[in-house]
Amino acid sequence: MATKKEKKYVYFFGGKKAEGKADMKNLLGGKGANLAEMIHLGLPVPAGFTITTEVCTHYYKNNKKYPAELKKQVTESLKKVEKDMSAVFGSKTNPLLVSVRSGARDSMPGMMETVLNVGLNDNTREALIKKTKNPRFVYDAQRRLIQMYADVVMEKAAGLEPAEGKGIRAQLEGELAKMKYSLGVKTDTEIPAEELKKLIITYKKKVKQVLGKDFPEDPMEQLWGAISAVFQSWNGKRAIAYRRMEDIPDEWGTAVNVQSMVFGNMGDTSATGVAFTRNPATGEHYFYGEWLPNAQGEDVVAGTRTPNPINEIGKNEHTRHLPSLEKAMAKAYKELDAIQRRLEKHYRNMLDIEFTIQEGKLYMLQCRVGKRNGPAAVKMALDMFKEKLISKEEAIMRVKPSQLDELLHPIIDPVVENKTKVFAKGLPAGPGGAHGQIVFNSADAVKWAKEGKDVILVREETNPEDIEGMRAANAILTGRGGMTSHAALVARGWGKCCIVGATVLRIDVHKKMMASGTVQLKEGDWISLNGSKGYIYNSKLPMIKTADENSDFNAFMKLCDGVRRMNIRTNADTPDDALKARSFGAEGIGLFRTEHMFYGKHSDKPLFALRKMIVSKSEEERRKALNELFPFVKSDIKGTLLAMNGLPVTIRTLDPPLHEFIPTQQEARDKLAKSLKIDITEFDKRAGGLHETNPMMGHRGVRLGITYPEITEMQVRAIFEAAAELIQEKKKPFPEIMIPVTAVVEELINQYEIIEQVYKETLHKFKMKEIPHLVGTMIEIPRAALTADKIAQKAKFFSFGTNDLTQMGFGFSRDDIGGFLADYQAKKILPNDPFQVIDFEGIGQLMEIAVEKGRKTNKKLKIGICGEHGGEPSSVEFCNKLGFNYVSCSPYRVPIARLAAAQAVIKQGKNKKK
Ligand code: PEP
Ligand code: MG
Repeated sequence: MATKKEKKYVYFFGGKKAEGKADMKNLLGGKGANLAEMIHLGLPVPAGFTITTEVCTHYYKNNKKYPAELKKQVTESLKKVEKDMSAVFGSKTNPLLVSVRSGARDSMPGMMETVLNVGLNDNTREALIKKTKNPRFVYDAQRRLIQMYADVVMEKAAGLEPAEGKGIRAQLEGELAKMKYSLGVKTDTEIPAEELKKLIITYKKKVKQVLGKDFPEDPMEQLWGAISAVFQSWNGKRAIAYRRMEDIPDEWGTAVNVQSMVFGNMGDTSATGVAFTRNPATGEHYFYGEWLPNAQGEDVVAGTRTPNPINEIGKNEHTRHLPSLEKAMAKAYKELDAIQRRLEKHYRNMLDIEFTIQEGKLYMLQCRVGKRNGPAAVKMALDMFKEKLISKEEAIMRVKPSQLDELLHPIIDPVVENKTKVFAKGLPAGPGGAHGQIVFNSADAVKWAKEGKDVILVREETNPEDIEGMRAANAILTGRGGMTSHAALVARGWGKCCIVGATVLRIDVHKKMMASGTVQLKEGDWISLNGSKGYIYNSKLPMIKTADENSDFNAFMKLCDGVRRMNIRTNADTPDDALKARSFGAEGIGLFRTEHMFYGKHSDKPLFALRKMIVSKSEEERRKALNELFPFVKSDIKGTLLAMNGLPVTIRTLDPPLHEFIPTQQEARDKLAKSLKIDITEFDKRAGGLHETNPMMGHRGVRLGITYPEITEMQVRAIFEAAAELIQEKKKPFPEIMIPVTAVVEELINQYEIIEQVYKETLHKFKMKEIPHLVGTMIEIPRAALTADKIAQKAKFFSFGTNDLTQMGFGFSRDDIGGFLADYQAKKILPNDPFQVIDFEGIGQLMEIAVEKGRKTNKKLKIGICGEHGGEPSSVEFCNKLGFNYVSCSPYRVPIARLAAAQAVIKQGKNKKK
């Protein structure tokens, strides 16, 4: 036992005693903590001990050395195990065998190593044969030990990296295959005992020949070899890659569990299996699992034998003919079923359990909270709440915001995806999955899609001229651009799968080819995208459709709505998008980008008028063009105000730099020149004059309205008149006019004069006393944030444009960051993409200042966010903390924001709706 001064590194469990418990996951890992907990519940768990995660941390900090106390503590715990199991490790008469397994805080399935049957050698083998009277089983166990140990301890942990197919495991498997061939048998179980005995000799020779070392016969050497190998596997390639994907910190380390072996392969009264207390794929409430008679755990997981359904209810058309444990071993099943019910009640969650039946006796080997997909997570959270197993708050916390995505978009079949090699990676700009044939320009995308083909549009980057093709394609893939680049923004708005900034791809749109490494793809080749992860596959992978109408989903969302404090709005620019967002639960529009009416379907006429306005030289010319534009703008705004009847709609005045709209094609330029009655030389001169070196910091947003007041005037008139007409039609429009890119309050003062003037004129024209509305501004320039007290004296609301605020605050171009972001993340300079997740430390501070200063001079100031961060869960949480009134995001992210806003309230401990 550890003395008082000594630090405790080893925790025993067995019989009726365990030194650990469920809430000691950080120290004992999930597996160790739960094994201890099962002992406390009086469940049959083979005795063992857990070496803590602190040992792993120590091991890596001290040049792979263990703490001095460890050896003694392991020996002492092993003694207790021996006592409990009435067997002795290494004994030549009554040997104990153990398994050595990893166990991190969060499960990392299959990412680390395991060694079974440790303690078996030629001596203990003979003793075990005497005891079990089952030589075949014992030889098979020894063969398995040599194979696993040589692979995991002698090769991988030693840092050897043989070429594919040349590893020791493959070579030993080759020997096994050779033996089966020469015996004329197909399965391992048909090999007679005596032949297996010979195979052990062959295996040992091979190990010596390939690895240059004898296979260790000393049980203690085997044990320590296996323990080290598990610690080593924490830093194996697979484990590191998994940690990156799942955001598991490197510092956590793994625990090691050493546990007495029980055998599911001791004949027909033995079995092993894996099960879930509810169906993890659908969430349905029945015991679900798989089992195999006469097998060891790895046989179920490895897929070498097809497992049987655990019970009758779990059978389907493919498994109907197979035997269930329920029928084949009724007594053990009944006991298992009672245990799983008890465990679920105790943990109040769906669990994943592993069990073994050794000669009719049931043992529990593991229990942990089970992984589940999105639809199952929602159903289980809701059901458990209804069953009064968990509270409303717990139910809400049970679903990850990213899991909701799985209910809203089709995804690549995860079973197939897990087995497929990734071709290239990019930034995950639009969630869900898609497959299609590659096309390299917008026109081809439209043409092929019309022919009924599935297409994916591949571009170096997209611009407004690609919009039709983007709409027609199943998904969009670009080589450049960041998370708020044009393609990303547009795709997200449509809920379309999209990957941007895939810089490893060499894309040649003229030759209609793209390549990654040595693999070239051409027009028409199939690819598949996982837009939630940013993975690209060079083949056609199957998709899974998600339910359109899901009553669980709606009920779950209602639960969230009862808890959240902030309103959730959407960024939408068309009545269709607005309706879609309303159906997802949006409570208003937080950003209507006026300029989007100049892209895509039916945009020819308004775009032409806009272009005329842009290249106009005099105010007179410009006003003429603006008059042409007015009816389009008005009807567009009216449609959206109507779609959101009764809810606020924030309409932003024109924002982008004008040069973005100048046509590049000669034909369009000629036509425009003609309509303005100027020659092409004059046109080129005017267009050239609009060119800007840094357009994002150029003549855009409010700056346009300062130079050309008539542009603001026209837009504001369109807004007020659209609202006035709707009021006359007995509707309830509520426009909020929003000025973008404001840096100083004087800009607002200037624009307000125009707005007030037009408001008066409209009231007069429609003989009205009032048109309910608000006027406010975006906060997207750092200077505006810092002078928010002044700005708030004029503005009725602030909406944080965190795309630009991040761009201006960091000095990172939002369109070009894709080119170097990966380096920043790999070198841990940035923890994540600041265009996806608010940089709380820097940009977040600007926001905090703005909120504080703004509310100081204007107590009623309404505050929201309309940058892309408004749909990102941790950013939503941040906004809740700062006391925002609302967040606004693209329609498909509205449910995610509803959930994230509810979770924020729960986390921040203010479970009250204002
Ligand atoms: C922003 O800057 O965050 C914003 C919403 O505006 P845009 O993306 O249109 O520049
Ligand atoms: Mg902006």
